[in-house]
Amino acid sequence: PAGRKLLIAGNWKMNLNHLEAIALVQKIAFTLPEKYYNKVEVAVFPPFTDLRSVQTLVDGDKLSIVYGAQDLSPKDSGAYTGDIAGPMLAKLGCSYVLVGHSERRELPGETDELLARKVEAVYRNGMAPILCVGEGLDVREAGNQISHSVAQLHAALEHVTLEQAATLVLAYEPIWAIGTGRVATPADAQEVCSALRVALAERYTPEIAAGARILYGGSVKSGNVAEIVAQPDVDGALVGGASLDGTEFASLAANA
Ligand code: PEP
Repeated sequence: PAGRKLLIAGNWKMNLNHLEAIALVQKIAFTLPEKYYNKVEVAVFPPFTDLRSVQTLVDGDKLSIVYGAQDLSPKDSGAYTGDIAGPMLAKLGCSYVLVGHSERRELPGETDELLARKVEAVYRNGMAPILCVGEGLDVREAGNQISHSVAQLHAALEHVTLEQAATLVLAYEPIWAIGTGRVATPADAQEVCSALRVALAERYTPEIAAGARILYGGSVKSGNVAEIVAQPDVDGALVGGASLDGTEFASLAANA
């Protein structure tokens, strides 16, 4: 809405080997006609081990699909066994990196302080972060979803300059709606996305806030995406489960 290009982002999580990744991207490319890419930016977030295959396919066939990584190290190189650094992802043509997905905040226990350094690493390497925020069920039931998500936003953006903020993408993902089939109502999504936009205006400028894309994530499917992205402050969707089926993901992007 308001002149912002919709972004439909598929988070594959820890699914699909590189052959399955190629098949899925091919399926999306075959199913979604070229005209849709003018209206909607379509991005996929494969596991690290699939990125090279996705890059080869996208570059070789000049696909309009873009891609990114699900995480990165806050460091650019060094003795950090098992980690993946920003320069490696930039070299593979990643446009975006997810930062602060609730599954990383919860399971490996990533803190606000670490996430702020990850956001810095994304910018330092010329990519754009998709910063995920959102409350659990207890916080929602206490009515504190706005203050919770806004606090996560400020903490993760601690080192982000005005110039960098121009390419920021946010994703509001209420934890109780992720992978549960329990989707937030369009009004619930709008309420928090609009509060996040106000927080950006206060932290940076009204222009930065007006240009930033804010996605909703949590059980989005081809059948419910339209009413969600019809909200004035919702500029697309971060999609988990429904992004693993090429036909479903392509119709989700077409219906957005
Ligand atoms: C996600 O993991 O970001 C997500 C929104 O998952 P799902 O669409 O499966 O709820």
